[in-house]
Amino acid sequence: MTALQAITFDLDDTLWDNHGVMLRTEEGHYAWLLEALSIWRATRHEAPLPLGYEEGIADYLQRRQQFAKDVPERRGDFTWLRLRALEAQLEAEGLPRSAAILWAAAAMNEFHRLRVQVSPHPEAAGLLSALSERYQLAAITNGNIHLKRQPLAAYFPVAIAAGELLAPKPDHTPFLTALSKLNVSPKYAMHVGDSWAEDILPAQQLGMHAVWVSNDTDQALPPRVHRIAHIKELPGVLDRVESSLA
Ligand SMILES: [Mg+2]
Repeated sequence: MTALQAITFDLDDTLWDNHGVMLRTEEGHYAWLLEALSIWRATRHEAPLPLGYEEGIADYLQRRQQFAKDVPERRGDFTWLRLRALEAQLEAEGLPRSAAILWAAAAMNEFHRLRVQVSPHPEAAGLLSALSERYQLAAITNGNIHLKRQPLAAYFPVAIAAGELLAPKPDHTPFLTALSKLNVSPKYAMHVGDSWAEDILPAQQLGMHAVWVSNDTDQALPPRVHRIAHIKELPGVLDRVESSLA
């Protein structure tokens, strides 16, 4: 009988390092779009779009930032922002609206294909497998990785895309949604994540236990909050929490 019943996990920079895959995804799906589009236009005897890669990707970012300001409730729904920005850009470049919508969707399909090519920490799968014997597990992410296609999806029967709930962390909604699906009250749950503001503070405010994956040793830790440098140290923390609750 364990005192804790559920563990919720942030994904990006908690179970894998995200920086490299985001860079490859950002550059890769946009380069794919420009190339696929010019091949398509060539088969129709149309000139390539005048848009170059550098100015195009800068304009794409600027349009996403503008949409996030104009439609603030969607600011955390990165897939929506990207789709709208690409559609608007392609229309501005002279594509008919129907073609702009189709090509934006195709580019986002390529985005998601690249985005799930994350490399979880080598310890992650074994750790989650062992934890799943004792605890209910859930994932809560603000990122727009495809939750069913990511490599650790099998360990997370409950997975919450907080941006698509229109309530990205640190909003309490994604935590409460996960706990309600698991049917566990916050004090019997632990959240594990790398962001002090988006993972640790909201979990702690809700009364959950929290494990901060960080190298920052200066931050004072409030009650129920623990710090580890790497996810592989989680079992040690769990042993300590379980024995303190026993
Ligand atoms: Mg994270």
